[in-house]
Amino acid sequence: MAGKIWFVGAGPGDPDLITVKGRKLLEASGAVLFAGSLVDQAATLFAPEGCEIRDSKDMTLEEMTEWLIAAAEKHETVVRLQTGDPGLYGALIEMTRPLTAAGIAWAVVPGVSSAMASLAAAGETLTLPEVTQTVILTRVAGRTPMPPGEDLESLAAHKSTLCIYLSITLLHKVQDALLAAGWSEDAPILVVQKASWPGEEKIVRGTIKDIKRKCQDEKIASQAMIVASPTLGAADWPNLIRSKLYDPTFTHRFRKASEKPND
Ligand code: SAH
Repeated sequence: MAGKIWFVGAGPGDPDLITVKGRKLLEASGAVLFAGSLVDQAATLFAPEGCEIRDSKDMTLEEMTEWLIAAAEKHETVVRLQTGDPGLYGALIEMTRPLTAAGIAWAVVPGVSSAMASLAAAGETLTLPEVTQTVILTRVAGRTPMPPGEDLESLAAHKSTLCIYLSITLLHKVQDALLAAGWSEDAPILVVQKASWPGEEKIVRGTIKDIKRKCQDEKIASQAMIVASPTLGAADWPNLIRSKLYDPTFTHRFRKASEKPND
């Protein structure tokens, strides 16, 4: 009986940000195929001695499939370790389909995505009451085209939080799309490189107008998240609409209002 292949989200970089379940699977694994230098530290930290560990960065899909199937024939637990969450820009389905075809069991363990880690690093929030209650995870077209209706300009028209992956070298396209969607040149933009990586994280705050220059000054050209959001900077706003959940005048399932609402 072949073993099972687990697609585990390693989290954004800090090995402590893998889930407990992901870590337990790594500790029990006979073989680990990890996605590039982004996650090797977690793999080597938590995988047991004698575990076969292989970096997939120079492998094709066919080679990875072959490697995983061969590993599942030898080991009960095989881990494919991916950065962030495996379901975001992770080629997950391309990898699972040939396993299903070969009759190999597989499952996915979610991970902390770099969007969440980037906002956390900057002490920012993805949503705010009456500002935005929506988050869009997207990218701009590079060598991978965007499907119809998903160009950044259309998505930006919602004025919600935009977490833009895989686009740091295309910052000019982000600037153009946001301006075309009616965002002001002075709207805040956050760029975080290597969010959560111990000692390597860089946080750049700017506006649509100056973010490109600031990133150039900081030599940020890879592994970076771009965040455009009307929530950015809220920690310093003079006025903030409070969340109903903790409002003393608001009753909910777990707490009765202790004060009357103001008229
Ligand atoms: N599955 C991953 C995304 C892989 S695509 C996830 O859920 O995070 C690779 C892109 O993710 C990069 O181009 C960059 O935009 C972003 N990224 C990955 N790790 C990052 C990190 N530690 N800090 C900031 N952005 C990161």
